[in-house]
Amino acid sequence: MQDQPFRVIVIGAGPAGLYLARALGAAKIDYVVLERASSAFLERGNHLLIFPHTVRLLHQIGLYDEAKKRSYKLSGKIDMTKSGYVLSDYSMWHLLQERHGYPTLPIQRYDVLEMLYKSIPSREQRIKTGAKAISIKETDQGVEVELEDGTTETGSVVIGADGVHGITKKYIEEAVSKTATESTDTRWLDIPTTSQYCSIYAEGTNTKKIPSGIFYETRDTGRAIQLGADNDMLRVIMYKRLPQQMSGSVSYTAEQMEEFAEALFDMAVAPGVTLGEIWPDFHKHTARLVNQNEGFTKHWHTGRVVITGDASVCTSSVNGLGVNCGLHSAVALANQLQKAVSSLAGNPSTESLREAFARYQHIRGGELQAIYNQAYSSMRQLTWDSWKDWFIDRFLRRWIGSDFLVRKYLNPLICKGQILSYVPFEDVPAPLPWRRTPEASANEDKKSEPLVVGQAQ
Ligand SMILES: Cc1cc2nc3c(=O)[nH]c(=O)nc-3n(C[C@H](O)[C@H](O)[C@H](O)COP(=O)(O)OP(=O)(O)OC[C@H]3O[C@@H](n4cnc5c(N)ncnc54)[C@H](O)[C@@H]3O)c2cc1C
Repeated sequence: MQDQPFRVIVIGAGPAGLYLARALGAAKIDYVVLERASSAFLERGNHLLIFPHTVRLLHQIGLYDEAKKRSYKLSGKIDMTKSGYVLSDYSMWHLLQERHGYPTLPIQRYDVLEMLYKSIPSREQRIKTGAKAISIKETDQGVEVELEDGTTETGSVVIGADGVHGITKKYIEEAVSKTATESTDTRWLDIPTTSQYCSIYAEGTNTKKIPSGIFYETRDTGRAIQLGADNDMLRVIMYKRLPQQMSGSVSYTAEQMEEFAEALFDMAVAPGVTLGEIWPDFHKHTARLVNQNEGFTKHWHTGRVVITGDASVCTSSVNGLGVNCGLHSAVALANQLQKAVSSLAGNPSTESLREAFARYQHIRGGELQAIYNQAYSSMRQLTWDSWKDWFIDRFLRRWIGSDFLVRKYLNPLICKGQILSYVPFEDVPAPLPWRRTPEASANEDKKSEPLVVGQAQ
């Protein structure tokens, strides 16, 4: 297989897998994406917050205008108690855009997937749907992935973007447990994935005319609600502490979802409006009750197999950073892979791939540990898990002030966003500088344009 052209097999066509497809294509690396579902974009109802550094990643691959079209404008954030008493009212999203140039875009998961999918050249050949990977084999020469339908895919590297319960991280855990040297590595968190909270996500019609562009967050003991609205639509995520910690993949019935929602009917979703008053306005066929997963995988790679996105680190959705983290990890991985492949005349050896993957984990691991810890605490503070959490959320956070917290944590996190180092482009101008910019700048690209046109690439 060393004699074959370098080929990547991506397992999973979620946001991380599809962004990787674009990134690998831009690096001129051959790839295929395997997705077990019958389509890369099926489910409606789940909303994601795409923060400015991730909007910048969409801009880099030409999807900024498309993302704005599929989104609506956010301006402020209102924190409330269950009675609708306003604890703080802060023009958070407006200030983020002022500082970073890009807006924060609330957008359907469906739209993110469709937009990415439709931007992939030769997508019908590159993205194989109904293709469930069931096992991975790795040698010093390459990899082989067996599919449920009995076929196999061969390549040089497997990237597992197969989510929180995927097979790739299980493969890596087993492979690494056989090598004593790697299993003694204590640099990274090692937290098995479990669920202590469950959530309903849903969208509905804004019949009560809740003001557009505000992100409302209501807190109470063991439960919480986040709601966003534009003139026509409502998007909600509700949280409830589970009676006991759970692990593995769990599905709930429509009756269980109704029961969960009823337990939150008395809570305000916006000043003067309770969940009970608007629950009939939600589209129940797309609403889901799901467990919130939290976990940090210690081992991200072997020599030829590596994980990214939720497969490596998953946080609850409370800070809205999961998909953002996944895309930035995918970009860091693509950068390392592109360097490893482009710096050699032939295919990189297993050892040089292992080094590239280790660099990727080194770049992302530390940052994600901080984000994981922050999201873990935020979930518990929002649901007043202990008297300390209640005190922090109810009083300390208010005394410190939202602007201080955003400047201390969110602005630096956004400034450190990844960027595809080999894809030149021009940022939207912003007062806060980006720590990472493409190595080949847009100006250099413009200068070399006539040469590139004249050459067979
Ligand atoms: C209620 C809720 C709200 C959220 N809100 C936000 C938010 O506001 N902002 C945010 O950033 N994040 C949010 N998240 C988190 C976000 O959805 C995840 O972080 C993100 O989807 C992870 O992307 P991924 O590509 O790593 O994995 P996934 O989205 O899980 O995709 C994995 C893909 O792999 C496929 N797959 C799995 N196994 C196989 C196999 N064996 N063979 C082939 N294909 C396979 C799956 O079918 C799937 O398509 C939220 C999550 C939830 C549950």
